[in-house]
Amino acid sequence: MDAAPRLVDPRPRLEDTDEGSLRPRRLAEFIGQGKLKENLQIAIQAAKARGEPLDHLLLYGPPGLGKTTLSLVCANEMEAPLRATSGPAIERPGDLAAILTNLEPGGILFIDEIHRLSRVIEEILYPAMEDFTLDLIIGKGPSARTMRLPLPRFTLIGATTRAGLVSAPLRDRFGMHLYFDLYSPEDLATIVLRSARILDVPTTSDGALGIARRARGTPRVANRLLRRCRDYAQVRADGRVTAEAVVPAMDMLDIDDLGLDEFDRRYLRAIAANYDGGPVGIETLAAALGEERDTIEDLCEPYLLQLGFLQRTPRGRCVTRLGCEHVGERFRLRTTDLHYPGTLFSE
Ligand code: ADP
Repeated sequence: MDAAPRLVDPRPRLEDTDEGSLRPRRLAEFIGQGKLKENLQIAIQAAKARGEPLDHLLLYGPPGLGKTTLSLVCANEMEAPLRATSGPAIERPGDLAAILTNLEPGGILFIDEIHRLSRVIEEILYPAMEDFTLDLIIGKGPSARTMRLPLPRFTLIGATTRAGLVSAPLRDRFGMHLYFDLYSPEDLATIVLRSARILDVPTTSDGALGIARRARGTPRVANRLLRRCRDYAQVRADGRVTAEAVVPAMDMLDIDDLGLDEFDRRYLRAIAANYDGGPVGIETLAAALGEERDTIEDLCEPYLLQLGFLQRTPRGRCVTRLGCEHVGERFRLRTTDLHYPGTLFSE
């Protein structure tokens, strides 16, 4: 297995300890995701005008794009208390019952990784979300009874990195579904400048853009790269994060000008050189690279797809001409390209 932690891994890491202080607290401070923000703004304003809690929200998107942050923003905008937990942390029905009965009226319950709730727990959530009631089963066997407890009206915010893994009955009980896109380099540069201000790191706009271009569309990665560049600038330069400081700092960390690290390049090279450019099945690739399939699908592929370096076809993964060029491999025209005319270029 690839044990070395990757700097560009969008999942939280120990070094992200200052994340709390970098989180925007209000919708107006939340940068990017224009459409999502507009929809949410309307929902919040309408709910407040009616004096009701917000509709249940389901947030979809890869790690590090701001799902937890947005739940906090909702709580602040609604002036509601927030209780945060995650799917794997709720193991027994009693755990969920305790959380639900302790909610305050109008409160917000945030469940991260909601796709990892067990079916039994999900079934407790259904009446809680729909009718604000908790059905408790007391006793076992023929003498078992159901007791129905009223719950305060609350808002459930669920977050998931895997849209396909949320069961249909759970999905249907959310009033709003919000999808996060990877951020543009311009939005990420604004995020970097904001974080630099909070962390008191002098940063130029071209320095921020240099970091943003390498942050794989992900604010968490952008903030992490900013911290590394700050250290480099402090030791090897005049302390300012400028474009001139970002380039050697990233080179030392083996992160290239598009934010790809050694693992991404190994992945592209494997398809290009070992499998004639593809198509190759994800399981085969995962075995060849010694990495978990989920890690490749969640952490590596979304960004390579966005860059247009990779295609996911029904028959497997294919590397594109752009992807080959980036890692210095020759692009081979495949017979299967006839089905994917986007890649049909002559050498
Ligand atoms: P997720 O829950 O999707 O994994 P988080 O909400 O924990 O992601 O966000 C990770 C970090 O990225 C946070 O510390 C926050 O500072 C930053 N962040 C995310 N989205 C934004 C945004 N739109 N504007 C500014 N910072 C953001």
